[in-house]
Amino acid sequence: MALSRRYNRCRAMPTLQEVLNENVREAAPELVEQLDRNRLRCYSCGHCCPIPEGQPGVCKVRYNKDGKLFVPWGYVGGLQCDPIEKKPFFHAVPGALAFSFGMLGCDLHCSYCQNWVTSQALRDPEAVSPPLGVSQQVLAQQAVGNGAKVLVSTYNEPLITSEWAVAIFQEARRAGLMTAFVSNGNGTPQVLEFLRPWVDLYKVDLKSFDDRHYRQLGGRIAPILDTVKRLYEMGIWLEIVTLLIPGFNDSDDEIKRLTEFVAGVSPYIPWHVTAFHGDYKMMDPRDTGPEDLMHAADIAKQAGLQYVYAGNLPGQVGDLENTRCHRCGKLLVERWGYRIRGYHLTNDGACPDCQTQIPGRWSSKFEAQIASLPFMPRRTSGLEILS
Ligand code: SF4
Repeated sequence: MALSRRYNRCRAMPTLQEVLNENVREAAPELVEQLDRNRLRCYSCGHCCPIPEGQPGVCKVRYNKDGKLFVPWGYVGGLQCDPIEKKPFFHAVPGALAFSFGMLGCDLHCSYCQNWVTSQALRDPEAVSPPLGVSQQVLAQQAVGNGAKVLVSTYNEPLITSEWAVAIFQEARRAGLMTAFVSNGNGTPQVLEFLRPWVDLYKVDLKSFDDRHYRQLGGRIAPILDTVKRLYEMGIWLEIVTLLIPGFNDSDDEIKRLTEFVAGVSPYIPWHVTAFHGDYKMMDPRDTGPEDLMHAADIAKQAGLQYVYAGNLPGQVGDLENTRCHRCGKLLVERWGYRIRGYHLTNDGACPDCQTQIPGRWSSKFEAQIASLPFMPRRTSGLEILS
């Protein structure tokens, strides 16, 4: 990941955990409950950890000290400028640049994580990155300075650092930016209400439709399904991604039940089915092929979903990278990978042929794509490696 590297371990240096524990604030009162014996319950993710005094929660970045919950503040684990199509959001300001920051740690421990160097930084000694100290004002300024329209918390699980994300997003809004979470969706009613005023776009990674699979990854399916429903009811723009892993979550039955669930919330929620390749500790399953994605997409369409996309295999999945009007089939956004090759929506986000309003958050005017591939932020003044 950009601006991150293997942590140089040295006996004289403080541990990563010690460094992170120095860069904290007290938790938002909405996200914590006092229990007996100085224990606390955290509501920042679906684990709802009861945390004894002196201990961290499952994520290892929120901890109870003297009966108070302390949470990450004032740093990032990495920065990168991404095309918004990479997040992926296909129905939100196509072509926009998404200034993206990651933090460290996660509430799950997926064996195939593609961002394991940061997400597992506090669990796996091989996976450590130096945090970079930065203020929320500098992050918003850099997003604007790099030409971004959206500021995104991504790469690790943003729910576990919700207070810091809200502080950054408040600055982002002042600077005229949209804001987004790229998340596993393991939320709670409390954290979603906390985020609601400040998050415009939310991507949920719906990894499976089987609670046993979720338990293998360190979670449960119930909070994730509840989060999907709540986000939709709250009016936050929602897109859903499922990484299709051969032999893990790709049975017809599981894909059918998963996509029927999404269609039951709304048939207009975009669903992205993306291709797996071996990573981190999961190297055994074969790579997902284009025919696997197209088969899953067929199931999703039969389930009633109107906007189905296949990702990670540019140019190999037929029409499944493009957006077509759900009513008349007119081609509206043409894509190849993250590249926008054609944009045909009206300025108010409607189909130019049949005038149907297309669900999403569209720009009033499509502007040329700044980048169709990720790049490092051009200016990084105002950041310092914490040690
Ligand atoms: S964010 Fe989740 S894992 Fe971390 S302490 Fe809170 S409830 Fe536990």
